[in-house]
Amino acid sequence: MILLLKMCFVFGQKKVVVIDPGHGGIDSGAIGVNGIYEKDVVLNIAKEVLNLNKFFFDNELDIYLTRYNDTLISLSDRSRLTESLKADVFVSLHCNASQNNSRGMEVYVHHSKNKESIAFGVSILNESTEKLGFDKRGVKFANFQVLRETISYCPSILVEMGFMTNMDEADYYLKAKNIRAMALAVLMGILNYLNAGL
Ligand SMILES: [Zn+2]
Repeated sequence: MILLLKMCFVFGQKKVVVIDPGHGGIDSGAIGVNGIYEKDVVLNIAKEVLNLNKFFFDNELDIYLTRYNDTLISLSDRSRLTESLKADVFVSLHCNASQNNSRGMEVYVHHSKNKESIAFGVSILNESTEKLGFDKRGVKFANFQVLRETISYCPSILVEMGFMTNMDEADYYLKAKNIRAMALAVLMGILNYLNAGL
């Protein structure tokens, strides 16, 4: 009985993570110089985060995606899911585009500059730049709808995982092992942030 209660307590402690693969369906997001679509890259990375959490971390986190398929979900539905699941953190996954061959990773936080969200963003940024060698462009502030609508529920960030307009970074995502590497960096960034708060 005591054991059972203990197990319930431990299960009750599981952190809820909402991962939002950007775009989907008719909205392809940025199109890579090599022809790949942002909407596919971010969905593949999000699904790999689910796999890694399941197979290597014994489902330590309770992770939900805002979409599991190539469908377009409205931005307000993505926020509503975060609210109804009582998420502990929200992370929207995107890839960048520019007209001047920029490269590197950056993280957006709502312009109210919530300290927890900044710490969460730095955690993912550090993992992906230090372990994978992406340039670190830093944490930036914006009034994106998904950030504005989720910031009152939990720390929330939007990660730009490299540039579709940069040949090296677009080509990086052609390989399944690199999708997995970025997924691991995102997952470790989430775990490091949540565990630091224990
Ligand atoms: Zn995007």
